[in-house]
Amino acid sequence: MKHLAVINKYFWKYKTRFLLGILFIVLSNYFRILAPQVSGYVVDQAEQLIRQQTAANTATENKRIANYDYLVQQFIHVIQTHKNSITTNILISAVILFLLALIGGFFMFLMRQTIIVMSRHIEYDQKNEIFTHYQQLDAAFYKTHSTGDLMNRITEDVSRVRMYVGPAVMYFINLAATIGFCLFFMFKTNWHLTLYVLSPLPILAVTIYYVNTIINRKSEKIQALLSDLTTAAQESYSGIRVIKSFVQEKSMLQFFNDNSEDYKKNAIGLARVEAIYFPSMTLLIGISTLLTIAIGGWYLIHQQYNVSAGTILEFVIYINMLTFPVSAIGWTASMIQRAAASQKRINEFLHTEPAIKDHPNVKPGHVSGDIHFQNVSFTYPNTGIKALSHFNLSIKAGEKVLLLGRTGSGKSTIAQLMLHFYNPDEGNITIGGVNVQDIPLKTLRTEISYIPQDVFLFSDTIANNIAFGQQGSIDRNLVEEAAKNASVHNEIMRFEKQYDTMVGERGVTLSGGQKQRISIARALIKQPEIIVFDDCLSAVDAKTENEIVTNLYRFLKDKTGIIITHRIFSTFRFDKIVVLEDGVITEEGTHESLLQHNGYYAELYRIQVLEKMQQA
Ligand code: ATP
Ligand code: MG
Repeated sequence: MKHLAVINKYFWKYKTRFLLGILFIVLSNYFRILAPQVSGYVVDQAEQLIRQQTAANTATENKRIANYDYLVQQFIHVIQTHKNSITTNILISAVILFLLALIGGFFMFLMRQTIIVMSRHIEYDQKNEIFTHYQQLDAAFYKTHSTGDLMNRITEDVSRVRMYVGPAVMYFINLAATIGFCLFFMFKTNWHLTLYVLSPLPILAVTIYYVNTIINRKSEKIQALLSDLTTAAQESYSGIRVIKSFVQEKSMLQFFNDNSEDYKKNAIGLARVEAIYFPSMTLLIGISTLLTIAIGGWYLIHQQYNVSAGTILEFVIYINMLTFPVSAIGWTASMIQRAAASQKRINEFLHTEPAIKDHPNVKPGHVSGDIHFQNVSFTYPNTGIKALSHFNLSIKAGEKVLLLGRTGSGKSTIAQLMLHFYNPDEGNITIGGVNVQDIPLKTLRTEISYIPQDVFLFSDTIANNIAFGQQGSIDRNLVEEAAKNASVHNEIMRFEKQYDTMVGERGVTLSGGQKQRISIARALIKQPEIIVFDDCLSAVDAKTENEIVTNLYRFLKDKTGIIITHRIFSTFRFDKIVVLEDGVITEEGTHESLLQHNGYYAELYRIQVLEKMQQA
């Protein structure tokens, strides 16, 4: 329960709605509780038609009326002074009963309008709160939490918490109001009878709570199975090409069928338990009603405790009114338990502080100038892999640097550290003499263009994908210019809708090379001073590569460029070439000096030249 305490701030935020909701619940219950009394009075009136009017009878009748609510007493007073026939009185009472039901119903409508609407507002706020927090969390967090888990907490868990702030709270207050009103008038009217008829209700509440726990456990299991089933289905849709090319349709189908079978068995088990639920509830209520009639009838026959036929009817209606709220106790309790468990999961994420954030004395300003890596070492915290060790590199403003190295040698790590996605274990990275940890993250990441290795395009138009990250509306000419610099303009123009072509889910309509170049265009439109290309020409052919490199050379004229790759761009004049192996620099120099050095670079160069000659 303590986990749900964080929700209280939202109740406070929507306090007017909440308080109005409580008022409406009480009013709705108040008007509904008058109906049994009016009904009881009507039956007693009808009984008088066949019974002698003695002074004793009138006295007990008056005693009963004195137990009714003030409004009912006023109503009886009004009809008694008019001295109508009993038939007319019964008719008038029927109209009053109808009106009471109408008013009670109206307030119930208002109660849903306030409390359930409030819960939707809270759900909205909570989702936003979680999403905002998600956006602040750093790369390391996303490496250790699965997308499914993140999605679950913002959808499934939030909606369970909503069940608490909406229905559970509403039913709980409703329950308190109904039980309060019913018990008050029942005890006032006849406490002997009350004790007898209420005796089965605690059993009812406990049974329902117990059955509900079983139902919940089973539905949790079903929920988990369903989630497995969805994941299996989802993976087979997105991996359909792999499945088909490895001819695995049959085994996937088998896997899905097995999961499906499991799900079905559990769902049927749940249905069985649910089938016991309502009959057992009806049975216990039936026993209460039976007790009312039997014991009430006994009192009536023996003229005890002022019981009349009207009293019996009144009690039968009270019992019926209590049924739903009492059966809701178990249900509400389990709803609250589940909400608490969900809120606990949500809190875990909300309390996760991003490891990478602006410290209070960051220095605003521009990112420009020389880049220095001084004795930088870095180990990935989640895997313990040492990606860089004692790494030193100086890049003067305006230089073009090639970072070369085998896969897993730490090239991307260098880029990630420069953009402050992680803090190095030791050493410093400075740009223009300022430590990157002292530069506001926003400035650092807007002013350095980084083209990551794994291209990600949004399900949006090509133009919007290129303009992503730019403020306000973007001039189409700028988008086209960026696309031209990235050598993708001509291909885009060949699409029917050109720049307004939608990129499908994860960009399925584009080729790998096209996606890479669109993501280059996205980085170029920023007009940055420093730009880092992380292996972003791996999927283009040699001719396109040449074209891009020539364009980039022009584009990078006064800019600092770091190009990470496995290949050598022989047409590009780099100021510095760095070869990395296992997080350590093994070669550093210019094209000529490295050829002379006759190491990894020279070997790679020879292989590539040889390849070209063979192709020609
Ligand atoms: P490639 O050319 O294949 O892109 P790379 O030179 O960019 O390789 P890095 O991505 O820098 O290599 O990885 C260096 C080492 O750090 C590798 O051994 C890799 O397994 C590890 N590594 C990379 N990213 C992570 C991560 N997010 N969490 C844990 N370990 C990582
Ligand atoms: Mg890499």
